[in-house]
Amino acid sequence: MRTAIYPGSFDPLTNGHLDVIQRATKLFDRVIVAVAKSESKTPLFTFEERVELVRETVGHLRHVKAEAFDGLLVEYVARRKAQAVVRGLRAVSDFEFEFQLALMNRKLDERIETIFMMPKDTYTFLSSRIVKEIARLGGDVSAFVPAHVRTALALKLASQPL
Ligand code: ADP
Repeated sequence: MRTAIYPGSFDPLTNGHLDVIQRATKLFDRVIVAVAKSESKTPLFTFEERVELVRETVGHLRHVKAEAFDGLLVEYVARRKAQAVVRGLRAVSDFEFEFQLALMNRKLDERIETIFMMPKDTYTFLSSRIVKEIARLGGDVSAFVPAHVRTALALKLASQPL
């Protein structure tokens, strides 16, 4: 049983994340999308909301599940008896940070491999930050996120003070 952990803030999940999840299912028997608390990033959605949005998105995918996670990634990976961490690489700009993270995780636990997956080219410009910005400015994000994420974004932004 080969398990991969796909960690991230998912604030909120985008079609780019979903593309990476689907690619990872071709390589692993089980993919756990691990939603990190990421409090220091002051996310738009609460921890629980982010987990729920991922859960709704992956519900129909066999062998994929969403989990909440807080603490050290390598410890979580060991607890889940996973073999690898999956991360997405969009452009050279992602590389430096991801490279550092992967090597640090290897220092902390040398048994864990990090696998980088490139999304479909149409998603290489997509990020949660940009999606939030477009939605905030009243733009249409339906091509970038699943329908229920778009609804959640609209509700969340409507409930926020200007
Ligand atoms: P984090 O806060 O850990 O960077 P994110 O939710 O922003 O969490 O991203 C999680 C992972 O998904 C990261 O490896 C990021 O590079 C990757 N990712 C984000 N958006 C995309 C996308 N459009 N295509 C491919 N990978 C992506």
